[in-house]
Amino acid sequence: MQGAALRPLPFGVGVAAGCRHGLHMPFAYYARLSAARQRIYRQSDAIQSLELPRGAAPGPRVAEIRTGLARGDRAAVRAAAQALVDALVAGYRVPKIRVRVLAKRPADGDGELHGLYEPDDAGTAARITVWMRTAARRDVVAFRTFLRTLIHELCHHLDYELYKLPETFHTEGFYKRESTLVNALLAEEGAAADPQRRLL
Ligand SMILES: [Zn+2]
Repeated sequence: MQGAALRPLPFGVGVAAGCRHGLHMPFAYYARLSAARQRIYRQSDAIQSLELPRGAAPGPRVAEIRTGLARGDRAAVRAAAQALVDALVAGYRVPKIRVRVLAKRPADGDGELHGLYEPDDAGTAARITVWMRTAARRDVVAFRTFLRTLIHELCHHLDYELYKLPETFHTEGFYKRESTLVNALLAEEGAAADPQRRLL
């Protein structure tokens, strides 16, 4: 949600209010930030893409998330999501994250919560929570939505641990990093399913 970065941690994920015109403008809440926080926002906004770490071969893990969701198998989805996040954080050389997959999304006043990132706290590893089913209809969350949510929460972790930003904001740069990594993972999934595609 657009104002999420103004709340204290942890962050919920919502729909981004992106800029739809040609000019690159910060999101509306930027104007309400202190000068120090605006500086952090601009640092975040300036990082426009996020590549897969070298040597990571996450395609099979992404495929396992897809099949686990299709079967409605929460244990399989959790194991695959944890393995995917483990591979990514190892590749980026940042601290580990515990991944929790819960059954039904909670609904808050602003709509459904998709995911949650809680930074490390007093020696406890950071944690990502994602939900498998929507609150309203209890349908299994669409695969791409689930993957995007998982990576969105990972991007909050990377803001702190990889980019060493003192705060993590939803900026246009943040959403571009999320998108480039999600697209790279989907390409890896395709390549893993069809090894010939690696040659093209
Ligand atoms: Zn977020």
